[in-house]
Amino acid sequence: MIDEKLEAIYAEIVRLNPGEVEFHQATRDVLESLGLVVAKHPEFARHRMIPRICEPERQIIFRVTWQDDHGGVHINRGYRVEFNSALGPYKGGLRFHPSVNLSIVKFLGFEQIFKNALTGLPIGGAKGGSNFDPKGRSDDEIMRFCQSFMTELYRHVGEYTDVPAGDIGVGRREIGYMFGQYKRITNRYESGVLTGKGVDWGGALVREEATGYGTVFFLAEMLKTRGETLDGKDCLVSGSGNVALNAIEKLTQMGARVVACSDSDGVVHDPDGIDVALLRQVKEVERLRVSEYAQRRPGTGYIRGGQIWSIPCDVALPCATQNELSGKDAATLVANGCIAVAEGANMPTTGEGVRVFLDAGIAFGPGKAANAGGVATSALEMQQNASRDSWTFDYTESRLARIMADIHETCRQTAEEFGAPGNYVVGANIAGFRRVARAMIDLGLI
Ligand code: GLU
Repeated sequence: MIDEKLEAIYAEIVRLNPGEVEFHQATRDVLESLGLVVAKHPEFARHRMIPRICEPERQIIFRVTWQDDHGGVHINRGYRVEFNSALGPYKGGLRFHPSVNLSIVKFLGFEQIFKNALTGLPIGGAKGGSNFDPKGRSDDEIMRFCQSFMTELYRHVGEYTDVPAGDIGVGRREIGYMFGQYKRITNRYESGVLTGKGVDWGGALVREEATGYGTVFFLAEMLKTRGETLDGKDCLVSGSGNVALNAIEKLTQMGARVVACSDSDGVVHDPDGIDVALLRQVKEVERLRVSEYAQRRPGTGYIRGGQIWSIPCDVALPCATQNELSGKDAATLVANGCIAVAEGANMPTTGEGVRVFLDAGIAFGPGKAANAGGVATSALEMQQNASRDSWTFDYTESRLARIMADIHETCRQTAEEFGAPGNYVVGANIAGFRRVARAMIDLGLI
């Protein structure tokens, strides 16, 4: 519920951003936590911090034209929403997916502000992308699209201005093509302009693993407060992209068994525990669907068009995309005995689903806290680029683990301070908001 004093602010957000349902959902989630904050900090209302933070500093929309392998001309729409730069240069990923529109980029950019604030590192919030669909495109087509996309984006980004990275549909390959084009246009080897680079050309070790690993570290911290560990736990991980793969790998390393994963076509049920090496081969090397994994691995079931959340588990990690876990799914998980949920994706649980988890009192780690390890390691990549240094895998992973433990502690303490012990949604929203709001006040009316 939104505090009645904030209802008018939310109504104005809806009025100003008509039809942007994902953006409404993301702002509503944060506003629901802020009633107690404005009561405690009257200066936030005086400075009109909530409506200010909900309005992006800058929104860029542009045309991207490119040619396919047969000479056909295609037109896509490119976006970069630079939401908030109070804490540092704009920072956040680029998503290439046919569903991308302004509402989705704005919800992601809005969440990114608070996520980045929670890391404690000097990064503002942004998001971007395109409605380009990479599925089935050749490597050459991907390269031409990325070059065309960067031919417009380059004028808006820079190591001190705005530092994009990957998200759904954008990984090391796409970052490489965009970095190459940026270098070509500007004649600058400006490593810090993009993160998620290949390790041979300025990338940081652990960046690729960081979102998935970080989500599992956060989950382990939540379980620890309840006297539990991951050892022997049965887990569901939705998705099979970068975040899911690395979450599965870390869960397995920490003694859990991942019994299912998925893609948009179906669900793999592997009661013996997913074979990470085989899944990597199918998804990352051969770029095939998870049905192929099921075919190659004996004893595995494949449910075409199936639902992952009805498989019984102890722990669930939604790592695919927004609104993939409904209120009904949440109720099924709770009824099946699930004790913890950590969001590897951004806003994968609907508002109703979040309420079901919180009412049931299970440990629920919202994305802006649980999946902050990716962007945190991007900030570590920026540090290494700035000092022309590169750190070892073990050292970087230990920094990531420390950051996730600190985010967990910040959320835990803040939730307690505001009378909602164990509620990481309240803790993450308030702690993230407070850091940004205070910085904006310090910087004056900008
Ligand atoms: N797209 C990722 C996220 O949702 C990473 C962003 C980054 O590394 O800048 O946080």
